[in-house]
Amino acid sequence: MSELVKSIREKYLHTLDKIASAARIANRQPESIKLVVVTKSQPIEIVQAAIEAGANILGENYPEEGARKLQSLRGVSAVEWHMIGHVQSRKAQTVAENFNFLHSLDSLKLAQRLDRFCGAANRSLPVLLEFNLGGEDSKSGWLASDEIHWPALLDELAVVAALPNLQVRGLMVMPPLGSAAEFSRPYFQKTKRLQEYLVSQFPNVDLSELSMGTSTDYEVAVQEGATFVRVGTAIVGARQYKTEVG
Ligand SMILES: *Cc1c(COP(=O)(O)O)cnc(C)c1O
Repeated sequence: MSELVKSIREKYLHTLDKIASAARIANRQPESIKLVVVTKSQPIEIVQAAIEAGANILGENYPEEGARKLQSLRGVSAVEWHMIGHVQSRKAQTVAENFNFLHSLDSLKLAQRLDRFCGAANRSLPVLLEFNLGGEDSKSGWLASDEIHWPALLDELAVVAALPNLQVRGLMVMPPLGSAAEFSRPYFQKTKRLQEYLVSQFPNVDLSELSMGTSTDYEVAVQEGATFVRVGTAIVGARQYKTEVG
């Protein structure tokens, strides 16, 4: 095992340990939480090392960068490739044809395009509905910061849930950036409440997954019900600067 793989493996296992401890605090099964290792803006050698270190779900933010990586590593290992960043409409085809899972479905328009491309490629794509709970203009997702407005989301979400080639599986959030993990807790709690609300409105839709928590706050996210955490820098180190737009 190379030094790089060893060092990533150590941090990967450490993260799994912390996830398990946070799960126990919340009386949850550690196995119910899946760790997405975020390799966006990391070179292919780091991605490969993360796979060798044991990562089985990789998260990428830019469709073309992610597609290039997964195509060059195809056959290396049976890892899952998850798209976790905002997908522009014109990149829908790349996502539909390459990725195993989309965490960041943030509009009806994108959903309809993905559904069309998935149909053409004879694929079915599991997706999470992304919500903007902080109300920041810079964030993607259905605006859900004010609970009063939740009912107004239902018509559009019903259309998304009925698309034949997308499988809705749950919710995703990216809280406003705070310096302390505790800053995220109320957003995670609100996501859980939104999940409960949506389950009550759509009893036949699978909304069981909650994708929330990054390097700084994943333990809090697990305590509050995350089933996917998305951890990058704490496992694979600081990102390289992006040299191109995906
Ligand atoms: C970059 C990113 C992450 C990982 O962030 P880290 O701070 O590196 O753990 C998780 N989720 C999304 C949506 C991201 O863009």
